[in-house]
Amino acid sequence: MHTFKTIFDQYNWDAVQARIEQCSERDVEKALHASKRSLTDFIALISPAARAYLEPMAEISHRRTKQRFGKTIQLYAPMYLSNECQNICTYCGFSLDNKIKRKTLSDKEIMQEVAALKAMGFDHVLLVTGEANYTVNILYFLNAIEQIKTQFAHISVEVQPLTTEEYILLHQAGVHSVLVYQETYHREVYKTYHPKGKKSNFDFRLDTPDRIGLSGMHKIGLGVLLGLEDWRTDSFFTALHIDYLQKEYWQSKYSVSFPRLRPAEGIIEPNFIMEDRDLLQLICAYRLWNEDLELSISTREQALFRDHIIPLGITSMSAASKTNPGGYAVDLQSLEQFETSDERTASEMAAVITRAGYEPVWKDWDKAYRH
Ligand code: SF4
Repeated sequence: MHTFKTIFDQYNWDAVQARIEQCSERDVEKALHASKRSLTDFIALISPAARAYLEPMAEISHRRTKQRFGKTIQLYAPMYLSNECQNICTYCGFSLDNKIKRKTLSDKEIMQEVAALKAMGFDHVLLVTGEANYTVNILYFLNAIEQIKTQFAHISVEVQPLTTEEYILLHQAGVHSVLVYQETYHREVYKTYHPKGKKSNFDFRLDTPDRIGLSGMHKIGLGVLLGLEDWRTDSFFTALHIDYLQKEYWQSKYSVSFPRLRPAEGIIEPNFIMEDRDLLQLICAYRLWNEDLELSISTREQALFRDHIIPLGITSMSAASKTNPGGYAVDLQSLEQFETSDERTASEMAAVITRAGYEPVWKDWDKAYRH
């Protein structure tokens, strides 16, 4: 089967990194003035040379986002269903080698969490689990979706990579989008971060968005864990991946998330520091390259940064997030996957968005239009 791997294998990490580092101011100016921007322009826009052009990049990003999405920010909340996991990932609090209390929500507990999220006003939920095939599998997901589907206008999932047939089942059950992060596209070091479990298979993960695309899923979310490896090179590969998927599975929409490595129980320190201005540059570069991408920022980021980024390219934000199973109502103290930074309530976040001149959107009307 033809997949992204065929294209990915034509690239070399070090050569891509060198190409980004060597971009000149002239390359950046050419990219800024292009009417339609290519991946070559994206490379220039994420390069160190583009750091001096943050202001014009932010200005164009603001304008393009406003034209394409209006002055709106979608709000969603993650709902962690389980912290059971059979993988070792060196950056995650749920890693198999962390001796924490494991928990998977029962039907009753799921509905308690749903009630808490609904009371906060959420209509878009992101279901999250670790990777535990025996307990948190397709049957568990389908059962959970069946229970909650009348409660939310939009259901996204961020769970273990599945087969195409399983993604079709999720799609038929009412799932709107699937998120799967490669974490890093650096094949050689990937294994050091994922030494044990199914996730240590780089190629299986790399081909996952192909399987999601084949299922006809409405939206596919990609990203890397910023801080593991050089963010510029990893972001080029993310863009290359999206470029391929958009051509191959044109019926789906695409989103990018920007998780920066955060503290969690027993995890490693970031290898590469990504400063706020780097993240701003990256968000603007994505928007300048691709006006259709949905760009999402979570509560990993601090309140001040989130407030500033509202008009500069972002289209969706999580709010009041808990990253532990049962964190909203059932078991407030269970161990988090990572620490959040912005702990404001959902209504406080909505007020901030309104004050910035934007409309906080709780309901995703896109689904209604499709039908
Ligand atoms: S990142 Fe995902 S797969 Fe890895 S340990 Fe955490 S929950 Fe498990």
